[in-house]
Amino acid sequence: MTDTAFKTLFSPLDLGPFSVPNRLIMGSMHTGLEESPKHFDRLAGFFRQRAKGGAALIITGGVSPTEAGRAMPGGAAMLTEADAETHRVIPQAVHAEGGRICLQLLHTGRYGFHPQIVSSTAAQAPISPFPPKALSGDEIKTEIEGFARAAQLAEKAGYDGIEIMGSEGYFINQFTSPALNDRDDEWGGSAENRQRLAIEIVRAIKVAVSEKFLLIFRLSLLDLVPGGTPWAEVEDLAHRLIDEGVHVLNSGIGWHESRVPTIASMVPPAAFREATARLRSTVNVPVAVTNRINMPEQAEQLLQDGTADLITMARPWLADADWGQKAEQAQSDSINTCIGCNQACLDHIFVGKPVTCLVNPYALQEDRLSRAAAQAPRKVAVIGGGVAGLSAAVELAERGHSVHLYEQSDRLGGQFLLAARVPGKEDYSHTLRYYEQRLGALGVTVHLGTTVTASQLSDEGIAEVVLATGVRPRVPELPGIDHPMVVRYDELLRGEATPADRIAVMGAGGIGFDVCEYLLHADAPVSGTDDFLDHWGIDASGDSAGGLTQSHPRHARRDITLCQRSDSKPGKSLGKTTGWIHRLQLRMGGVNHLTGIQYERIDDAGLWYRDPAGELHTLAVDQVVLCAGQLSETTLRDSLTDAGLTVHTIGGADKAAELDAKRAIRQGVEVAVALSA
Ligand code: NAP
Ligand code: SF4
Repeated sequence: MTDTAFKTLFSPLDLGPFSVPNRLIMGSMHTGLEESPKHFDRLAGFFRQRAKGGAALIITGGVSPTEAGRAMPGGAAMLTEADAETHRVIPQAVHAEGGRICLQLLHTGRYGFHPQIVSSTAAQAPISPFPPKALSGDEIKTEIEGFARAAQLAEKAGYDGIEIMGSEGYFINQFTSPALNDRDDEWGGSAENRQRLAIEIVRAIKVAVSEKFLLIFRLSLLDLVPGGTPWAEVEDLAHRLIDEGVHVLNSGIGWHESRVPTIASMVPPAAFREATARLRSTVNVPVAVTNRINMPEQAEQLLQDGTADLITMARPWLADADWGQKAEQAQSDSINTCIGCNQACLDHIFVGKPVTCLVNPYALQEDRLSRAAAQAPRKVAVIGGGVAGLSAAVELAERGHSVHLYEQSDRLGGQFLLAARVPGKEDYSHTLRYYEQRLGALGVTVHLGTTVTASQLSDEGIAEVVLATGVRPRVPELPGIDHPMVVRYDELLRGEATPADRIAVMGAGGIGFDVCEYLLHADAPVSGTDDFLDHWGIDASGDSAGGLTQSHPRHARRDITLCQRSDSKPGKSLGKTTGWIHRLQLRMGGVNHLTGIQYERIDDAGLWYRDPAGELHTLAVDQVVLCAGQLSETTLRDSLTDAGLTVHTIGGADKAAELDAKRAIRQGVEVAVALSA
């Protein structure tokens, strides 16, 4: 073992069938590549890198054990010997790095997106367009046989074990939880009957696989839906599963239909750890803790304070393939930290796009983005120290170019500096910490407070320029727009303007929502895990059935009205997996909405507007915050090209309409690849 600052995290653990050298599990994550064997080489490469980077045990994305359990038509399934054969490359790749890998068996039940879905009940899920068929007793037995066959095939394929997905509101959870199981046969009613499916699945699997095959069960500790599983039943099921031969218990928190956030950026690290700790105190097998753990210091603390024996992280391994290695070498500062945005991972899944990562465009794109050193290293100037410029500067320097980074203000970070001031987005500062560490390590020359000119660059012998000067807020043309009550969002977020008592937020895009959350927080901060749980009504101890209790939402002290001209749903442009949280958050905080309006003017009386029927109104406010989108900042471009410099424009300077950190960071990588060919 290396001498490491994180002694417990990097200590070995006996899981029963085998030992692991550290406590790091890469949790299950759908990548979009599981569906077709033609992608399995890529998937194998992706897992191999993570095994090399320190993940002791990897769990694949969910694979169905039966036809009915598929997530969608053609969704991943392990049904035949041929399926097992195609999977072989995946465990082989992980074993080549000395790692271990388990296949996750995920039967989606009523969460599936196809007409053949089945469940304990005929009640349709709010997140699926299809009603499920309530299975008969015989049909349930067929699904159980499917689990046993799939586990056997997984062992044949070379996997070290399986994780049985028993939480998140999927098939097994649809039987175990009283919130949904409305049956009156031997598969419903009493807790023992509701648990029968889970127990029979484990029993059948144990017969089908060898003793050295690891069995992990992802147990729903907190259903987080009304009428969810009481704690006594959670604990009872855990003991029964262990008696049947389950080796490891992983924590499942919340169903997909829960109306409380469980993994988005505003969830504090391991916010639900109390439930995991409670389970661990009553069982004699290793228990894993999950949800929003993204730094080694947190992981070590959770092990040392006895919350868990293992740390399951999923998205942080997308953000940094070498997370484990860096942690082991006590290089936390060099970890590219997952910021919980969901923008390039979960949001991509929902629109059928391949998964990658906002802060790490290489994730699952390794074959497209070459990391090869520059053929002919050059002297390159990067102008603008937002994330586009930071990404370009680091990536160019990684490839051997000599890089000068110029930033007009006295701090690096651009829009990310502002984002990190929004409550719930504090983790965005990790991205800036990561880039600053890389700039230093790679010897990039950083010029802060410098408005560079074309002649200065020419004097430095620089011919190649990456223009990443970002955006400036759009100031709409409106009578009274220069009234003293009007402030820009950036002035407010930087603390240069004090929030008034009655505020109109003009523009309901991503930044309008961020500004509302900032204002809500100014009145009623939600700080730390206890506040978060209280605000959303979560009982992480499990004392309240399903983990839900009375919520105490923080309400704004001031009047906030979010305004938009279009008549679409406010926040329509927000991410699929997080937009509902932001909308709910504003509703809980008492933010008003005005939609489909036309702005007329601003004067001492406030903001004048016409409603959709054309009637004139005054919104009596003391402050109007402009969140009306952005314009590209490209003032320098003409002088640079006129001076004969080659200019590559990226990020917001390239396209303000979709000011988008995912594109900005990716373009930084792409320009470095192009200049290194
Ligand atoms: P945005 O999402 O495009 O929203 C700008 C809003 O301003 C529009 O909703 C538009 O609404 C309004 N607007 C446009 N022109 C206007 C004008 N002349 N007068 C008055 N209102 C006008 O832009 P953003 O809020 O600046 O966000 C920029 C980007 O940052 C987004 O594309 C998003 O990708 C990203 N972002 C995302 C999040 C998140 O997902 N949570 C958070 C922050 C930023 P109407 O035309 O309906 O009035
Ligand atoms: Fe994390 Fe965002 Fe990357 Fe997803 S896209 S892994 S949430 S940083």
